[in-house]
Amino acid sequence: MADEQEAALKEQLAEAGARLVSQKSLIRQLKADGAPGEQVAAEVNKMKEVQAEVDALQAQISGPVFDRDGFDDVILRRMIVVPSFEIHGGTSGFFDYGPVGCALKDNIVNEWKKHFVLRERMLQLEGTCLTSEPVLKTSGHVDRFVDLMVKDDATGVCYRADKMLEDHIENLISADPGMDKEKKEELELIYRQADAYSPDELHELISERFKIVAPDTGNPLSKPFPFNLMFQTTIGPEGHNRGFLRPETAQGIFVNFKRLLEYNNGRTPFASAQVGLGFRNEINPRNGLLRVREFCMAEIEHFVHPDEKDHPRFHEVEDVVLTLFPQDNQLTTGRLVEMTAGKAVADGVINNQTLAYFMVRTHLFMKKIGIDLKKLRFRQHLKTEMAHYACDCWDAEIKLSYGWTECVGHADRACYDLKVHSEATKVDLRASRPLDPPQNVEYAKVEANKKIMGKEFKRDSPAIIAYIGETLPVDEACAIGEKLAAGEKVDVEVDGKTFTLTSEMMKVSRATKTVHEERFFCSVIEPSFGIGRLVHSVLEHTFDMRGEELVKEKGKVDRTLFKFPPVVAPIKCAVLPLLRKEPQEKLAETITETLVDAGVYATCDTSGTLIGRKYARMDEIGVPFAITVDVQTLEDGSVTLRERDSQEQVRIPEVDRAVSTVTALCSSRLEWAKVVEEYGLLSSA
Ligand code: AMP
Repeated sequence: MADEQEAALKEQLAEAGARLVSQKSLIRQLKADGAPGEQVAAEVNKMKEVQAEVDALQAQISGPVFDRDGFDDVILRRMIVVPSFEIHGGTSGFFDYGPVGCALKDNIVNEWKKHFVLRERMLQLEGTCLTSEPVLKTSGHVDRFVDLMVKDDATGVCYRADKMLEDHIENLISADPGMDKEKKEELELIYRQADAYSPDELHELISERFKIVAPDTGNPLSKPFPFNLMFQTTIGPEGHNRGFLRPETAQGIFVNFKRLLEYNNGRTPFASAQVGLGFRNEINPRNGLLRVREFCMAEIEHFVHPDEKDHPRFHEVEDVVLTLFPQDNQLTTGRLVEMTAGKAVADGVINNQTLAYFMVRTHLFMKKIGIDLKKLRFRQHLKTEMAHYACDCWDAEIKLSYGWTECVGHADRACYDLKVHSEATKVDLRASRPLDPPQNVEYAKVEANKKIMGKEFKRDSPAIIAYIGETLPVDEACAIGEKLAAGEKVDVEVDGKTFTLTSEMMKVSRATKTVHEERFFCSVIEPSFGIGRLVHSVLEHTFDMRGEELVKEKGKVDRTLFKFPPVVAPIKCAVLPLLRKEPQEKLAETITETLVDAGVYATCDTSGTLIGRKYARMDEIGVPFAITVDVQTLEDGSVTLRERDSQEQVRIPEVDRAVSTVTALCSSRLEWAKVVEEYGLLSSA
């Protein structure tokens, strides 16, 4: 929708909203004054008319209302995704994938691997889910992987503080469609910043300003306090060794960096990728697969020189237009901007080419798997939201029936991760590259008397020498040297211990050397995908209804479908005998086998149901193609092929040709229009 058209609709909505509010207040007044029933009823009817006007305008602005009940019904009834441990009452935040859900998820992951891992020649890795404490202590997760929580003072029930605030604001805005523009914008701004507030700021907003109380009981809420989201356990029988279920897969890549770099012959830039489970003990799991406690992630860590973040393939994607929601716009107009990746980097909106390159690749991937690109935006993290070490972060957010939802994070994490693991383990996680021409550099030359130092400091001696000669800046090391030369004793702290140096132990002097290589910590650019959220998004964006009711059975109406693109469709082709007769059934089974042998996931429905109902069943789980075996097949070997979205059919003279046509359609080598062109349209439902 054009901006002006949308603005005009919003104005009409504001005007209708104002009329609705005054109509409601008139009715309240009439009731309070004890006005006659007929008069109140007449005004209530008027109010209903205005409400309908408001709803219609809202639908025009945000599109038709999503049929959540219909959607949830299919998801459960066709066992696409179901609650885990359901017969034991279930546990919130855990879901199992049924046959269709599994295949859809696998197909999305496989496309992801093709689109990223294969195409960019990434090094794949599979680390463990259970991670020992030092790894996550070093990464900062043990101390800082927290969400702010508030507690119902009386019952002890916990809520995520930022979500309480968001929900409250959402309710305020939707309850008052005629809300003053300035007030609405201010509330929206608070909403957008909800997860970036400090505990004190949140407390002020929740308890002082909005006076939000516990949703179920109306009790007051505690001050926000941090809750660590990691699941903890112990490793081994003694119980000394703490471990955690990993909250992200990335750390498994960082701790393997040295070997990965060696595998890559010491060359940077390179990327490593990992698909696996992540676990977070979410405070309030909700919205199906969107906020769960165990979920599949697909993460990429791209290692690059910190001063050279241009990408060699950026020219291939620089003209792609992205929908961006930069920091400034979030804090001011609230408007999205459309911009090519090239311009976004040139204007400094996106920090660097590599980050922008991955954002475009994500955009293209979303298109492949069936996400509606009109409902995709990249939202930049606010400064207050970003980790202190990060340079720039953009979340790919998808508009769902639950609102805009982060599905992929893109973060430039600078050199933080490799540095902290290197410092904690004393393993050199720097990469190197040749310097051309070589450079002369100053260094602190340490001449140590290893005998005296060894006697005094034993096994700590090499670490002290390395600290003075390599870790300390040259000026500081030389200043120590001068003090020692003047006969002073100098205390140095290495690895948390203090050592006293004397002039017999070492001399330190300034010297120059020619270096042929530069050693550096790589910057890490990380696209991090939540596969469960993508599965949900694909399901929502491809969910549709037929304009008419197809078949009614036991009071249920079978008329929904998933318009999955063939590449991700869980079942690609259904083979349906028209009649329940042996030769037709047998042939249908044989065709199914042939399709499966050709690598096409196919199914055969030999039930006695009518063909229209069979098609509807297949549409309902998004099967894009159906081959039908009928009387004519037995006569001349031809079959019909039906396409799900258009419901068009063609007749193909031979089974083998039908199989190869379906194979080509499923791998996107052929389009349906071409099939129609070749064989002619048979019928359209
Ligand atoms: P983060 O490391 O928090 O940026 O998360 C990376 C991605 O994982 C997000 O973009 C989401 O797609 C996904 N994700 C994070 N938390 C959850 C959750 N509780 N349930 C499902 N997916 C999640």
